[in-house]
Amino acid sequence: MADVYCLHFLWPYWGKAQHYTGRTKFTAEERIEVHRSGKGSKLVAYALAHGNDFILAYKESFDTQHEAMIREHRLKKRHGGVKGTCPICNKLKKGKQQTCSG
Ligand SMILES: [Zn+2]
Repeated sequence: MADVYCLHFLWPYWGKAQHYTGRTKFTAEERIEVHRSGKGSKLVAYALAHGNDFILAYKESFDTQHEAMIREHRLKKRHGGVKGTCPICNKLKKGKQQTCSG
């Protein structure tokens, strides 16, 4: 059991990056609790400390860590992969309110 998840930040938290793609052997929701407590990724902790916030854009569950790892790497490698699969960005684009990158 493993989850791959994508966090969509309210604004770019590090240069142009507005998404954080991660993988956990727990559920995405449990992992988010860790992020919010500041014990997860340093980047996420930094963003939260500076008044940014995030939404769980999507998650996928896999039977094995290996499958989740392959999916995570694909998302991170493909140019625009995270953006392209983020439902929040897609919604914003349709509404022409703002674009987001990263
Ligand atoms: Zn997004």
